[in-house]
Amino acid sequence: MALNEFALIQQYFSSLGTASGIVLGVGDDCAVLDVPEGEQLVVTVDTLVAGVHFPANASPGDIAHRSLRVNLSDIAAMGAEPRWFTLALTLPEARESWLQEFSQALSEDASIFGCALVGGDTTAGPLSITIQLFGTVPKGKALTRSGAKAGDHIYVTGSLGEGAAALFLFGRQDDSVVVEDERERLLHRFYRPKPRLLEGLRVRDLASAALDISDGLMADLGHIAEASGLGAEVELDQLPIAPWLMTLAAPSCVTEWALSGGDDYELCFTVSEEHQVAVESLISRGELSACCIGQMSRELGVRCVDRFGHLVNVGTTGYQHF
Ligand code: ADP
Ligand code: MG
Repeated sequence: MALNEFALIQQYFSSLGTASGIVLGVGDDCAVLDVPEGEQLVVTVDTLVAGVHFPANASPGDIAHRSLRVNLSDIAAMGAEPRWFTLALTLPEARESWLQEFSQALSEDASIFGCALVGGDTTAGPLSITIQLFGTVPKGKALTRSGAKAGDHIYVTGSLGEGAAALFLFGRQDDSVVVEDERERLLHRFYRPKPRLLEGLRVRDLASAALDISDGLMADLGHIAEASGLGAEVELDQLPIAPWLMTLAAPSCVTEWALSGGDDYELCFTVSEEHQVAVESLISRGELSACCIGQMSRELGVRCVDRFGHLVNVGTTGYQHF
């Protein structure tokens, strides 16, 4: 690498974001971190490979935003708060303009979401970014996938389908069907998914199970169902789909995006009858952006139903990595 590895780390990655509890950050063999009394660590890691998880021509800023935010989304799904992260960066070359833009964007998001870079690794090779994020949660309070009970109501935050619509856009030779304004929205949604940290905290004491939707609603809700030993019924008419998405493709295609397209990074969580009133009042007070889309059932598998409760065969499988 043209730029000396240590100079590179010093210049671009030595002080990024803010968080309490850092006894020792970047620069030693390990970081030393204080976990607050009464809290537990929650740890997640995601690797993004150029040409696989983002288009090879993506800007360094966009790559930085997405790399951190997909991890923040996992922390949100546990009802935890982000604190510290490490960065393993593999670069084909040490281009200063690239590093400047990447570290600037990472720094912005680290500050916005209240976490700090505490270490990492820098190597030469095909572009790949691995971020490991450490969060904390009060002991025993982490939301998991396995706590749902039959009859629990299923909620999702925000809206679904835009992540898949962005992938559809990337896949088109001719993307003139998408007007500039919509293209911007889709790219923003793809590169800067909004980690639902606040929502995770709001429902931490109310939800029975939760996860973030990265591989598509059907597949991810399937994980809650399986981990909880249950099935689920999703009411197609209740899916939160932004109306403007309907202008991009046929209704059946948009429904498919919402059901099985990945990359939405919304939360899916289940709520018992007992806690539903509290969740609904958060929603009506504007303190939680979420809606009810169905119910957990004893019958295994995830099914779609129409407004009359009749089964609808949508034949979706979700995003498969391999
Ligand atoms: P070691 O050889 O002990 O693993 P390195 O020489 O790889 O240490 O790294 C020196 C210091 O710089 C360590 O504190 C490491 O955590 C940090 N570091 C290396 N690469 C990065 C990076 N991309 N971002 C943040 N910190 C990094
Ligand atoms: Mg060492």
